[in-house]
Amino acid sequence: MEKTCTDELPLTMNSSEKQETVCIFGTGDFGRSLGFKMLQCGYSVVFGSRNPQMSSLLPSGAEVLSYPEAATKSDIIILTIHREHYDFLTELNEVLNGKILVDVSNNLKVNQYPESNAEYLAQLVPGAHVVKAFNTISAWALQSGALDASRQTLLKKEDPFSTSSAWLSDSYVTLGILGFFLFVLLGITSLPSVSNMVNWREFRFVQSKLGYLTLILCTAHTLVYGGKRFLSPSILRWYLPSAYILALIIPCTVLVIKFILIMPCIDKTLTRIRQGWERNSKYS
Ligand code: NAP
Repeated sequence: MEKTCTDELPLTMNSSEKQETVCIFGTGDFGRSLGFKMLQCGYSVVFGSRNPQMSSLLPSGAEVLSYPEAATKSDIIILTIHREHYDFLTELNEVLNGKILVDVSNNLKVNQYPESNAEYLAQLVPGAHVVKAFNTISAWALQSGALDASRQTLLKKEDPFSTSSAWLSDSYVTLGILGFFLFVLLGITSLPSVSNMVNWREFRFVQSKLGYLTLILCTAHTLVYGGKRFLSPSILRWYLPSAYILALIIPCTVLVIKFILIMPCIDKTLTRIRQGWERNSKYS
């Protein structure tokens, strides 16, 4: 029996702990995909097949037996067989007695049969408990599910609102939006047609105060981007810092110099110099 499979990515934190055994009847597209996913989730999977020796492309780790043998291995049997082939189940009535049969089948047309597939199955195997499930999931979705983040949850029991990463990502977006908004405003007020409309005070307020505020917001936006990784040696490649750290050198330098210049002792002196004050002037 040939068993081939792509890499199995465990979905559970501790996939080595096997859960109960699940039996899947049919080794077609859907049966294989469902078996693959169940193995990833830590279940033992036993396939039932007409030709166990000929079954191929099955997920590694799964067992393949004949239908009657496989049925004895589990209390839950998932039928991944088309309804048209259900008749052989009547021969397995004895072994299926008391078992849970999961019907995944869909019909090609609406109202194709007088009764639903699950009702038909219940008539064929009266001793079994029939349930309907998985019929709205495609084999493709089961196979590519690892790419679908909406179906997976991190098993780490953490409150997302108490983690700093949530705050960091929200701050990153907020600072970016605000910074970009002010940046656009600065651009618009720089247009001659707009700047001619405002007086000197307004223009200075926008270009100076709002300009620095924009610089602070955009710098903070980039600082937050680094988050906990900021200046972490693990992100250094070839002993060089990341591009976003290099991009911060000039704005941080400007902000530090501005901070020094607005300190009262320096600001006062500079203002006086701007107003014409001279050291040792005989007119001062
Ligand atoms: P499939 O590839 O044709 O597989 C059906 C399997 O049924 C066969 O591989 C075969 O397995 C088994 N079988 C048992 N008796 C048979 C018989 N007399 N003749 C032919 N095959 C027989 O079909 P599938 O796409 O996996 O679909 C299986 C069921 O899942 C269908 O009821 C379908 O409606 C339902 N479903 C499928 C999807 C999907 O995306 N494919 C989605 C939702 C629901 P052995 O050779 O090992 O016996």
